[in-house]
Amino acid sequence: MAGECLFCKIIKGEIPAKKLYEDDELVAFWDIAPQAPTHFLVIPRKHLSGPAGATPADDALVGKLLRKGAELAAANGAPAFRLVLNNGPEAGQTVFHLHLHVLGGRPLTWPPG
Ligand code: AMP
Ligand code: ZN
Repeated sequence: MAGECLFCKIIKGEIPAKKLYEDDELVAFWDIAPQAPTHFLVIPRKHLSGPAGATPADDALVGKLLRKGAELAAANGAPAFRLVLNNGPEAGQTVFHLHLHVLGGRPLTWPPG
């Protein structure tokens, strides 16, 4: 449910987060358990359950999410970076509000575990 969602609560200011960017459609904040020197999340204000929860009506929003993640990476210590979207518990998704991980600031191995 959107109202009980952790990231919806961060958007509403009910749970604190260290924000690095926000506009009318997106919010970006530093991950509470960083996996790299640069690790922040970019989320839409609109509650979508994850990548598979987006519809064609969300195409522009999802495109902006990716572009903004790339733009913010370069401006926050990660000229080389990885963008990650987890979908489903088996893929590592733990918060069911669409979020783009932006990781960088150290060498990143491939493939991920
Ligand atoms: P995922 O596992 O892809 O669903 O990613 C969820 C991410 O949210 C994880 O990297 C968590 O460390 C992060 N996270 C959980 N709670 C918070 C919070 N209150 N503030 C910032 N990041 C959080
Ligand atoms: Zn939400």
